[in-house]
Amino acid sequence: MADQKRDYYEVLGLSKSASDEEIKKAYRKLAKKYHPDMNPDDKTAEAKFKEVNEAYEILSDRDKRARYDQFGFAGVDPSFGAGAGGPGGFGFDMGDLDLGDIFGSFFGGGFGGGFGGGGRRANPSGPQKGASLRAGLTIDFMEAMAGCDKEIGLNRAENCPDCGGSGAAPGTSPEICPDCRGAGQVRMQRQTIMGSVTTVGECPRCHGRGKIVKNPCKSCGGNGQVTRHRKIKIHIPAGIDNGQTIPIRGEGSGGVNGGPAGDLLVVVSVRPDARFRREGDDLYLEQPVSFTQAALGAELQIDTIDGKVKYNLPAGTQPGAVFRLRGKGAPNVNGYGRGDQYVTVRLEVPRNLNAQQREALRAFAEAMGEEAGEDSNPMRDFFGKKKRKK
Ligand SMILES: [Zn+2]
Ligand SMILES: [Zn+2]
Repeated sequence: MADQKRDYYEVLGLSKSASDEEIKKAYRKLAKKYHPDMNPDDKTAEAKFKEVNEAYEILSDRDKRARYDQFGFAGVDPSFGAGAGGPGGFGFDMGDLDLGDIFGSFFGGGFGGGFGGGGRRANPSGPQKGASLRAGLTIDFMEAMAGCDKEIGLNRAENCPDCGGSGAAPGTSPEICPDCRGAGQVRMQRQTIMGSVTTVGECPRCHGRGKIVKNPCKSCGGNGQVTRHRKIKIHIPAGIDNGQTIPIRGEGSGGVNGGPAGDLLVVVSVRPDARFRREGDDLYLEQPVSFTQAALGAELQIDTIDGKVKYNLPAGTQPGAVFRLRGKGAPNVNGYGRGDQYVTVRLEVPRNLNAQQREALRAFAEAMGEEAGEDSNPMRDFFGKKKRKK
C-alpha cells in the first residue's frame, strides 16, 4: 500500500491505554513544537504538525477513538481504500463505499433502523434545485459606465409543460418504485476484507428518483424536462467591471421533483477603451499637452465619461504630472458614488517645424542661454558641442 501512515498513538508518543488527559497533554506539547509559526522554513515540521492534529482529532473523540482501536485507519478515514481497489488490486471495490454508512450500521443497530448516515446526504428523490447556468456577455466600456439593458439567448432544461415535470403521460402519474419504496436508495450487502458490510447506493431500478414512470410522456420521453431556447433580458447596472458576474435568480435549469429553478450567472466582459483605463472605480487618462501649454499654462478640454470638462493647467506643469478630477471616475456598481479620474500629462514634442517656428524656438533658446543646433541632426550637434568645449 502506498499509504504509509503512522499509528496515531505512535504519532503522539502514547500507549493504547493513554487517558484523555494524557492525549491532550501530548497534543499540546507536539502542536507547539511543530507549529508552522515556530518552524517557518521547515516543510517536515508542517507535515508533522498535520499528522499530530489528525491523530488528536481522532483520539480526542471517544467514538472515533473506539472505531480506530477496533478497525484501524479504515474506521476513521473516509479516504481509506481509495488506492486498494484499482485495476488488479484486491478484487473488491470500495470506490463508492461510504464508511460513514458502514459504521452507521455497525454501531447504530443495523438494518431496518433507517439510513445510517445521519441525514448527511440529501434525499435524492426529494425536490432539488435546478442547475445553475453560466452565460458570457460582452459590452462596450461606455455601456458599462452608463448601465444598459441586454438580451441573451440560451438553451436550458425546463420542466416539461405537458406532464408538469413528472415524466408520466398526461392522465397518468408515476408510481412509487417497489424496489426502494420511494426512497431512491437501497442497501446492498457486500463481502470485503472487513467482513460483510452494508452500503447504501442509488436504487438501480428508479435511478434514485424513487418513482417509476410506466407510461412516459411523449414530449419529454419520461425525463420530465425539455430543452428550450430562451431569450433572457438582463439589466446591467452602471459601473459593472470586467469579469463581474450578475446572478439572475430562477433563470437557470428547471428544478427536479418540484424543486425551484437554478440561477443564471451572467459573466460580463467589458471591452477595453482607447482613452480610459479603469482601476477599481478610478479612471486613468493620458492628456497630450504641448510644450508651450505646459510652460505657459492653458485651459484644457479633458475627456471624461460625462463629456469634456475644462481644466486650467498651471504654468510650469512638468511631463508626467498627474492631476485629479474628483468624482469623475466610474460609478460604483453597488451605488456608492463615483471614483475619481486621474489625468497624466504627456508632453508632446513638435515634429516637422516650419522655418518660422524654428526661428522662434532658436530665439527662445538664446533667451534661455542655451545653444541650439542649426538643423535637426543630433550627431552633428553632439560633435559640434564637443569641439567648441575644447
Ligand atoms: Zn413530459
Ligand atoms: Zn427505486
